[in-house]
Amino acid sequence: MRIDRADYLRRDEKSVQALWNDPSSVVIPVYQTGNLIDLNRNTAVFKTQGELQATDLEHVSGTFLGLDKGTAYFAVNCTEQQAERWCELSKVTEFSDLRTCGPLLPGHEASILAYSRGIIYWQQQNPYCSLCGTANRLVSSGHMMSCSSPLCSSQTFPRTDPAVIMLVERTGDDGQRYCLLGRSPQWPDKVFSTLAGFVEVGETLEAAVIREVHEEAGVVVINPRYMASQPWPFPQSIMLGFIATAATSEITLDETEVAEARWFSDKEISTFGNWGDDGDNPKLPRKDSIARYLIDNWCERRNLPV
Ligand SMILES: [Zn+2]
Repeated sequence: MRIDRADYLRRDEKSVQALWNDPSSVVIPVYQTGNLIDLNRNTAVFKTQGELQATDLEHVSGTFLGLDKGTAYFAVNCTEQQAERWCELSKVTEFSDLRTCGPLLPGHEASILAYSRGIIYWQQQNPYCSLCGTANRLVSSGHMMSCSSPLCSSQTFPRTDPAVIMLVERTGDDGQRYCLLGRSPQWPDKVFSTLAGFVEVGETLEAAVIREVHEEAGVVVINPRYMASQPWPFPQSIMLGFIATAATSEITLDETEVAEARWFSDKEISTFGNWGDDGDNPKLPRKDSIARYLIDNWCERRNLPV
């Protein structure tokens, strides 16, 4: 499943309403920041409108997410009562944090749950106009808010905060390849990953890579090269993955951000365990993360930009 966001339909209220009423359309519940996930079967819980219509669970409207092979997908922002009913009907105990459970799900399910959570979170955070304080109303099938004061009519759009995440590499005096990995104070013990940080106002992505590595590890880097990105709606980011070359090797830590950082050779990394493993050896970040993608690609010399 790869959802077509079909943004041309968002302003076509009649067509979106017809899709909302279609018994084959799929409804994805979000409650606060939680998604409904069956942790016994490691699968997301959806229901079609037809299935919902056969119950007492009613949602008057939803946010149009897009189409997959002609089927429309909607996210709904549940009240506490609706959330309880979803759990009862689905025989699932509670709504879960996708950040923790995402790796257990098939990729396409994690992706649409992340999209649902992200757009609903933005709606929850913007009930009032930030200019005049009047209530906002949802327009464009849930993808825009408009101030309901006719004197203001200010528009609000979903916001995504860019963050850079970078693998820093160098060749040692021994001729071996090394990369810089750090350990966050908030992570499980022994997990090492690439450095990361938010892009500041007026800053290029490349400048953010250079600044963050210097701030967190005291290492000067040059030549940041873009690799790949990953939406990270926890709550509203996108991670932009880079590889960069170190011009210096001495590490000076900002210990509020990084508990430990070291240069590891690709041979050393090949002995690492995985996030969640027991044991004392260092561990790699989660397999579904862009950090892991950057590390795996570097170790295997795959897709490296020239
Ligand atoms: Zn306003």
